[in-house]
Formats: sequence, C-alpha cells, structure tokens
Amino acid sequence: MDIFEKLEILSDAAKYDASCSSSGSNRKNKNNGIGNGDVSGICHSWGADGRCISLLKILFTNACIYDCKYCINRRSNDVRRATFTPREVADLTINFYKRNYIEGLFLSSAVIKNPDYTMELLVQTVTILREEYNFNGYIHCKTIPGCSKELIDKLRKTS
Ligand code: SF4
Repeated sequence: MDIFEKLEILSDAAKYDASCSSSGSNRKNKNNGIGNGDVSGICHSWGADGRCISLLKILFTNACIYDCKYCINRRSNDVRRATFTPREVADLTINFYKRNYIEGLFLSSAVIKNPDYTMELLVQTVTILREEYNFNGYIHCKTIPGCSKELIDKLRKTS
C-alpha cells in the first residue's frame, strides 16, 4: 500500500477524533469556479493568539486491538486498515508544510499491539520532526490511554 492510500484511509478515520474538522467532505470545482473541497485530512485549530491555523489531521493507525462498540476503528468493524511509519508521517508533515498546505500536525491513533508500543511510535514521529527536521511548527499529539508515564514525559520533552 502506498503512502497516499494510507493517507486517504487514515485522514478519513481521523475525522471522528474530537476536534474542529473542516476536511470531512468532497466538493468538486464547478463552472471554472475557484477552489474545491477534498477529504485530505486538513483541519483548523486556533493558536494562543486567536489565529486560525491549518493542520494535517491523521491517525497513525486505525488497526486497533480493541473493540469499543461506538468506534469506527473497532477490531470487529469491516473497514480498510492502514498504519504509517514514523518516517512517513514526518515526511508528509514536512512536505505539506513546505508546500504551505499546513502549519502543523494533529496526530492521534488507534492502539496497535499495546499502548506503549503505539505511544513509542508517536514519540518517534515527533522526535524525527523536532530533532531531525528541526520542525518548530504546531504539533498536537494525543497520548494513548494506558501508556507509561515515561513515554508521556518523553513526548513532553520532545514536543
Ligand atoms: S481504543 Fe480507541 S481507536 Fe481503538 S476501538 Fe477503542 S476508541 Fe476506537
């Protein structure tokens, strides 16, 4: 599966994660009008100064080990599954940023293998962005319920 197929699946799955989401529908350009809408996983949030900022909003994975009845990503649901690598998420973020599509990243995830394993992958992603790519933009990274405090501390120090 290529990275754009993953992006399609994991940006769509992220639209259920609580936040302002302005990327949940398609709208084609008609009559040579200006712009169009696309399910591309870009949403908006507000900075501390009240400014609106656009974010790449994705799940790291929707291949969840749990089966919460209310959730689209529950194990028993028949949906397409995908999982990024930390490098893929970091590369998408930095490339979208350089193209001026986004100003930051909203990263959440289902639980793959166990909470610590999943959280470690999220921390790796943020570490690549902050320390290798020197990305100083906005990152909203969810913590995985049940993961160790050490990983939350690591994320806090990195981000
Ligand atoms: S743990 Fe989260 S992603 Fe997984 S099924 Fe429950 S609510 Fe959905």
